[in-house]
Amino acid sequence: MIEPIARVKISLTSDCNLRCAYCAIDKERGERADVPALMAALAPLLRAGGRVALVGLYGGEPMADYAAVSAIIAKASRLAGRLGKELRFSMATNGLLLERRHLRFLRSREVEVCISVDGPRRDERAFADGRGSFEAVAEKLKLVFAEMPGRKLTALQGVHPGNAARFEENFRAVLGLGFTNVNLEMIQGPPWNEQARGAFVRGFGAARRILLSRAASASPIFLHSVNRALAAAAGTAIAPAAELLPSGERSPAPYPFAHLAAGSRASLAAGARMVECRDRLSRRLAQELLSRRGARAYRVEAARRGLSI
Ligand code: SF4
Repeated sequence: MIEPIARVKISLTSDCNLRCAYCAIDKERGERADVPALMAALAPLLRAGGRVALVGLYGGEPMADYAAVSAIIAKASRLAGRLGKELRFSMATNGLLLERRHLRFLRSREVEVCISVDGPRRDERAFADGRGSFEAVAEKLKLVFAEMPGRKLTALQGVHPGNAARFEENFRAVLGLGFTNVNLEMIQGPPWNEQARGAFVRGFGAARRILLSRAASASPIFLHSVNRALAAAAGTAIAPAAELLPSGERSPAPYPFAHLAAGSRASLAAGARMVECRDRLSRRLAQELLSRRGARAYRVEAARRGLSI
């Protein structure tokens, strides 16, 4: 029997145009999306689930294979139509390969586009030749914000031991780019220690003050982890996600870690604890937001913006 799944995360390729220092994906694997196999794996998951399902596309860099992105979205939408289901799509991308025609397609399918921007320093997310990607992404965002509604755009701010001390600076830089949705991605794999954890907790305190102040001035910022906490407080259960590899196989782990040896996986435990830390701080912040004036409007808008991958 296939268990009901509300979210399906699909890795489309191991290929990528960046070489972020912390990335666990082996770009030389040459894995590409097998669209028929992915659709064969997706169909029973969608049939078994509830009325609404989230499908998150990622990679590597999914836009390295736009044909697969557009095919999966079109085919899954047709299937959902036949099943009488509502599908919501999101895509995690570094944004650099997006063109106007892609953005128009993604907007027409109401895809939430989640763009990785960790911070402005050149060593945050680099090209193979060592150049930082922040300025190139900032330039690309002019087109992205012109073509997509802001509520469908999310910044994926990667937080790892090497940049935890710059969390506030990076968060402010992300907001300075125009994002009003931020997904704090606690990078798993690099060695988190007490010092880095403390730096993240202090930085989250600064982000908390910004969120409370922006909510009070009716120009709110939404953190995905806070949105999830609000959804849980409202009694909306978040079902676990199924992971599909580019080959269409189910994976017990997210794609970046699917190929790691068992010994390496053990080192991910510290990263998993940071996810719990973020979620605990987010639950507290959600409670604070709910106790403030304008809480109802905030919660309604948070729910409208939904949850991504
Ligand atoms: S983290 Fe994402 S953008 Fe960076 S190298 Fe890995 S797949 Fe590419």
